[in-house]
Amino acid sequence: MAKFPEAEARLIKGKFICRRCKSVMRTDTRRVVDGTVKCRRCNNHDFKAKRKK
Ligand SMILES: [Zn+2]
Repeated sequence: MAKFPEAEARLIKGKFICRRCKSVMRTDTRRVVDGTVKCRRCNNHDFKAKRKK
């Protein structure tokens, strides 16, 4: 979908997917690493960065 790396990085940055319920969260990378962010649906703390395969 993204046409060039900068745009793709911008789209991915700040978007994380809950590993348990697959809901997308918009948050800061540091907050995910710190574990301060949690899924609003299932309270899971485990997220992965949004990337296309
Ligand atoms: Zn979840």
